[in-house]
Amino acid sequence: MKKTVHRKAKGRIVIDRELCKGCTYCIEACPKGSLGVGEKFNSNGYFPVYSLHPEKCTGCALCARMCPEIAIEVWREEA
Ligand code: SF4
Ligand code: SF4
Repeated sequence: MKKTVHRKAKGRIVIDRELCKGCTYCIEACPKGSLGVGEKFNSNGYFPVYSLHPEKCTGCALCARMCPEIAIEVWREEA
């Protein structure tokens, strides 16, 4: 019998906290609720976003596409 393997995409993001302006567009764009606002401000006085629930990230890159500062890098792998 042939088995169907359901592959689940897994992603990882890297946010440049010094580029981030804290606009939260990426948080609104993330379909998985993976992102949150950090509690420490950066050298420009903004509160950068961070990966609040990294295990939920699928690597869809919607956050990176929304970011006006190009502060998010996305890595994706098939698990
Ligand atoms: S890559 Fe997709 S799932 Fe991961 S944090 Fe960005 S928007 Fe959310
Ligand atoms: S969209 Fe970019 S600049 Fe705005 S909060 Fe997210 S990472 Fe920061």
